[in-house]
Amino acid sequence: MSNPIRLVIFGRQGAGKGTQCVRLVETFGVIHVSTGDVLRGAVAAGTELGLKAKAIMDAGDLVSDDIMNGIVRERLAEQDIVENGVVLDGYPRTTAQAEALAMVLGDDGLHAAIDLDVPVEEVTERMKARGRADDTEEGIRRRLELYEQETRPVLNWFAARDLLVTVDGLAEEAVVTERLLSTVRSLVES
Ligand code: AMP
Repeated sequence: MSNPIRLVIFGRQGAGKGTQCVRLVETFGVIHVSTGDVLRGAVAAGTELGLKAKAIMDAGDLVSDDIMNGIVRERLAEQDIVENGVVLDGYPRTTAQAEALAMVLGDDGLHAAIDLDVPVEEVTERMKARGRADDTEEGIRRRLELYEQETRPVLNWFAARDLLVTVDGLAEEAVVTERLLSTVRSLVES
């Protein structure tokens, strides 16, 4: 069996990460794991994890590294991911989580961390245009600031290990998909 694809994907809200993750799943058969979705599922199901996570998420804080590392470690060991590979979305959110991921996957375990890069001005326009109730100018600005504070050190962590690959997300959806797919193909072939 060939080495399954293992990626992390980053991108600001409004960068089109969700759509592009669907394309990765369709094209490569990888499993998309969004830790935000996992937590929202646990909240909806009323599990012990969900009960713990709900207040933290409602406050806009981060769930603890211990909890997140445990969730991801267990999920990565499941057969579907062992066989088909994974795109991690929303994890790692801290450098401690990045270290934990490196421990779980081992040396050469990760093909790359992809930064789907769309400038702040553009995602702001996109979010304003979709007009959701929480998409006020102030709300958008705060979420983007938080992303910057939270994510930059993690991007730097991957860059320092030569694992960060930036994909220019400023184009039509189909064009960005082609850029992303060819980037991943070259990662897998190299
Ligand atoms: P997201 O959908 O990725 O924005 O995640 C929604 C919320 O879930 C975040 O605001 C955090 O409270 C929590 N969360 C998701 N992933 C993580 C993570 N890797 N570490 C800590 N908290 C997380």
